[in-house]
Amino acid sequence: MPVAAIIALAVVAIGTGVALGIFRAAPADVSLAVVEVPAEAATASVVASDVASGETSATGTMVEVPDVTGSAVDDADTLLTIAGFEVVHTATPAGDAKVGTVLAQDPAAGSVMVRGTTVMLTYASDDPNVTTTSALKADATTTGRVYVVCIDPGHQDKANNDQEPIGPGSKTLKAKVTGGASGAVTKQRESNLVLKIAVRLKKELEAQGVRVVMTRTTGAVDISNAQRAEVANAAGADLFIRIHADGNTNGDVRGMSTLYPAGNDWVKPITAQSLTAARAIHNATLFTTGAKDHGVVPRSDISGFNWSKVPSVIVEAGFLSNPVEDKLLASEAYQAKLAEGMSRGIMAYLKGE
Ligand SMILES: [Zn+2]
Repeated sequence: MPVAAIIALAVVAIGTGVALGIFRAAPADVSLAVVEVPAEAATASVVASDVASGETSATGTMVEVPDVTGSAVDDADTLLTIAGFEVVHTATPAGDAKVGTVLAQDPAAGSVMVRGTTVMLTYASDDPNVTTTSALKADATTTGRVYVVCIDPGHQDKANNDQEPIGPGSKTLKAKVTGGASGAVTKQRESNLVLKIAVRLKKELEAQGVRVVMTRTTGAVDISNAQRAEVANAAGADLFIRIHADGNTNGDVRGMSTLYPAGNDWVKPITAQSLTAARAIHNATLFTTGAKDHGVVPRSDISGFNWSKVPSVIVEAGFLSNPVEDKLLASEAYQAKLAEGMSRGIMAYLKGE
């Protein structure tokens, strides 16, 4: 890539940070902020918009996917990373193509995606071990498309008790994002625990060829529950899975539950599919973890459900208020079992099994 293009994109990256900073500091004052690079330098553009202004608006920062097909894979990585995307690679036999060249990208050039979205690059390889039967290829061939799952690790470092409507157009308000539970024995914070599980789940799903969009990859964010749903909506996710852990004043209560949206007009269009997904994920995860069954539970009062336009579930992975379950949840082995179960359930749901 020419140096000029890299510099231009670096400016975009800086511009993005500034726009996002303003957006987070005073969302009510920011209706639209656009940063664009010169057309001859690149196709990336950045838009930060105010979510609260309407139910159809996108959240956070949307970025246009640059065209990297035909580029050297290293150049493509640089371009996409600077534009704010994560990149994964799939090798395919080079055939007549130049080795190391990007032959395909998903999402396609020109798609407007949430910053942090994973872009899959298929590149030409001369490695004799490379065949076209990777999980991604097999999945895409079988189904004709790549599934998208949005993972929302619940909460964040700092609660935001500002209020937001519980659903589009609602006068009922609820805190944007609460602080979450903490471990009775380990003192681990729910926000940290669920991020660890979410990162494991992301890897499991990507190994199955699923494209994963994360609402957050760190605790140092300020994203309301409605905004998290908007991330899933903007990604056109096939499933929005939110990961939490429970708390109860009674330390004896334990078990895993899976929540799904039901019982109001906002979620009517997604209730049936959400329930199907919830059952599949719940059963698969009970199987891998051996957790006590705390039920599949309908909820009408959750902002992150009511703002969602895509099938949605919350896995309450266990009770941090229960000493035994708190310690289990803190172990990497148990986190791996949770992620494996969720992944199995999600794949079964996506494939209609
Ligand atoms: Zn929670």
